[in-house]
Amino acid sequence: MRIAVVGTGYVGLVLGACLAENGNNVACVDIDEAKIAMLRAGRMPIYEPGLEEMVRRNHAAEDRLAFTTDLAAAVRASEIVFIAVGTPQGEDGSADLQHVLAVARDIGRAMTKYTVVVDKSTVPVGTAARVRETIAKETSCEFSVVSNPEFMKQGAAVEDFMKPDRVVIGIEPGDERAAALMKELYAPFTRTGAPILTMDTASAEMSKYAANSILATRISFMNEIANVCEAVGADVDEVRKAIGSDRRIGTSFLFPGVGYGGSCFPKDVRALVKSAADRGYDFQILRAVEAVNCAQKERLVDKMQAHFGRLEGRTLALWGLAFKPRTDDMREAPAIAIINRLLRLGALVRAYDPEATSTARRLFGDRIALCDKSYDALAGADALAIITEWNEFREPDFQRMRRLLKAPVVFDGRNIYSPAHMRALGFTYYSIGR
Ligand code: NAD
Repeated sequence: MRIAVVGTGYVGLVLGACLAENGNNVACVDIDEAKIAMLRAGRMPIYEPGLEEMVRRNHAAEDRLAFTTDLAAAVRASEIVFIAVGTPQGEDGSADLQHVLAVARDIGRAMTKYTVVVDKSTVPVGTAARVRETIAKETSCEFSVVSNPEFMKQGAAVEDFMKPDRVVIGIEPGDERAAALMKELYAPFTRTGAPILTMDTASAEMSKYAANSILATRISFMNEIANVCEAVGADVDEVRKAIGSDRRIGTSFLFPGVGYGGSCFPKDVRALVKSAADRGYDFQILRAVEAVNCAQKERLVDKMQAHFGRLEGRTLALWGLAFKPRTDDMREAPAIAIINRLLRLGALVRAYDPEATSTARRLFGDRIALCDKSYDALAGADALAIITEWNEFREPDFQRMRRLLKAPVVFDGRNIYSPAHMRALGFTYYSIGR
């Protein structure tokens, strides 16, 4: 099929590459000319495992994956047009739909034949209807609007897209033509039996917010369990295993830490609270999930203050800046809150991340020292803090760490080391809920 994907970010680029990988002809569109020029030159604007190779392969194959700023031409050439632009948080906490609706208008203006327009961006209930109205003002062509939320996780986005747990397709009642095209498009991705769930657009839109909200809830819940474990003298790791082995609960998203971040959970939780409030409903659990998460981002620095007293003039080494491993994304990363507070308290920060160094440089400039190698960050630091659980931090050379740090003190925000082992190695070791 011929497909256009408007918005070539974390979602749009993965979507475009994966659709091309299955033989479709895909045009990835963006208004960011520098990004499109970079992609055309074979350079990647983001880091995502497996993506670069897939983009290169399909870009090289004639016509299969193209990059353009010409939305109108891409729309005219396509049967299906995805909207995958950002839906950032607006001032009042709601999802800001200006980019989605601007793209809908441009699609409507460019359309010359029947087109399926697919909302891939995370958008509140009712957006499919607004996209439909916006397009209808611009064209007399027939078209369908489909809601197709994306459940991929950054750090494993290609794998998730190629082998989804399920595909959710929201269609308007009776729109069999769009449903058939969408099922055909997703058939190669669901051969192993993953269901394609078709439903009304409102339920599809709600599914995405419900999924992110329940995952965020599990994280905040476990962070509170960890905090109570500290108060009562229990070990959250043991508790996690005990409850995770219950099939009704399962093992995912039960790891306590320094709070969740990223471009999705924080904004999607707030957007659902807001859209419920707009209809007179107080989403109490989600308000607490958000409040707990904000407080959790403070706890590691609280522990540092409890250990050192004043942090003024102290040097803290940070391992991990991205909001999670295997991405360079720092949007709402706990590291940002932690670094800002450390700087406010007069501490110096030396940080290392395998992929997020340039992102961090854009955010902090020379206010922190960014190191190219993990051990460089430790040189002369008063303590090490683990903020993101990259695999390369799991089995470090502890003797080398001891030699480089001024004193053997580790604040582990991700519980990646064993407290007994760290004690045996002579470290003063703080973690979460143990
Ligand atoms: P992003 O910020 O990485 O990318 C958005 C892209 O859209 C940017 O390249 C931007 O230049 C482009 N854009 C903005 N306005 C445009 C316009 N008028 N025309 C063409 N391009 C335009 O965002 P993202 O992380 O890819 O997220 C996109 C959407 O998908 C959001 O709604 C997000 O909530 C949702 N989502 C994200 C993830 C994730 O893991 N990042 C997962 C599932 C869903």
